[in-house]
Amino acid sequence: MERILEVKDLRVNFKVRGGTVQAVRGVNFHVNKGETVAIVGESGCGKSVTAQSLMRLVPSPPAVTTGSIKFKGEEILTKSLRQMENIRGKEMGMIFQDPMTSLNPTLTIGKQIMEGLVKHQGLSASAAKQRAVEMLKLVGIPNPESRVNQYPHEFSGGMRQRGMIAIALACNPSLLIADEPTTALDVTVQAQIMNVMKDLQVKFGTSIILITHDLGVVADVADRVIVMYAGKVVESGKTRDIFKNPKHPYTRGLLESVPRLDQKKDEPLIPIYGTPPDLIKPPAGCAFAARCKEAMRVCLPNDPALVSVEGEDHRAACWLNHELAHPISSEGGESA
Ligand code: SF4
Ligand code: MG
Repeated sequence: MERILEVKDLRVNFKVRGGTVQAVRGVNFHVNKGETVAIVGESGCGKSVTAQSLMRLVPSPPAVTTGSIKFKGEEILTKSLRQMENIRGKEMGMIFQDPMTSLNPTLTIGKQIMEGLVKHQGLSASAAKQRAVEMLKLVGIPNPESRVNQYPHEFSGGMRQRGMIAIALACNPSLLIADEPTTALDVTVQAQIMNVMKDLQVKFGTSIILITHDLGVVADVADRVIVMYAGKVVESGKTRDIFKNPKHPYTRGLLESVPRLDQKKDEPLIPIYGTPPDLIKPPAGCAFAARCKEAMRVCLPNDPALVSVEGEDHRAACWLNHELAHPISSEGGESA
């Protein structure tokens, strides 16, 4: 399978008063052409920072990003800002949770779709406008011919999110990064938006990185899942394996804390008690130990590496898997 993205030992540190926040601590993963990879975890686990660093959107300073991000074989971290401008929007598109803060309120939706088409594809204004109307139609916006001339505030929340997808996909990027794209929307609209994204993925062959804390959405759309905790990947694998055979207590905790379709009436949802560690001074051993019901003596001083576990491409970083697994590397493991 063609790999379009390969992330190795990604680390993002933020200098703050009182120290350095280690927001991302040695993350490895890859994305194949045309697949959807979900990155899940609680807020503050480093999933958004990871996503933003793929497009070099993490402000530096204060951030220092190291490691390697290879996109279509080329290193992203050493590109100039100018080269990045060419990649953003054209090769990589991004959609965010809140379209109101990322859409430009002073430009019509049509103009915002046209911008990339004119800049990256050299379309004339009239050709770009025609394409903008087509994109609005593709994302399911009714009356696209008149909607194209409207401003973001004239759109409902769900419509704005569709508009943002239209902008992100107008230039047919190879990779779409969607950071909590449906979190602010109600459930029905959420499902519609995810369907729009899936349809467009099939049509254009786009790879999608979906950042979310919503495991229901993940089960529906993702091919593979990466679970992050305290700035690291703690489990990764095919969606089916992650849901049916989770190998990390944190993943199990996430699954137990969300309602399932086959949930029995008297079966309670179990929250994960406690809070993630302070990433200014992350613990030496397993970062989940303070919240883990299965913690053992080995867990406190020793950080478990990400190792292969049962299932194809299934990996977990937990001492419980130690005897079943062979360490891929002592340095925190291979690509997820
Ligand atoms: Fe729990 Fe230990 Fe596994 Fe960490 S390594 S998740 S503390 S059992
Ligand atoms: Mg976030």
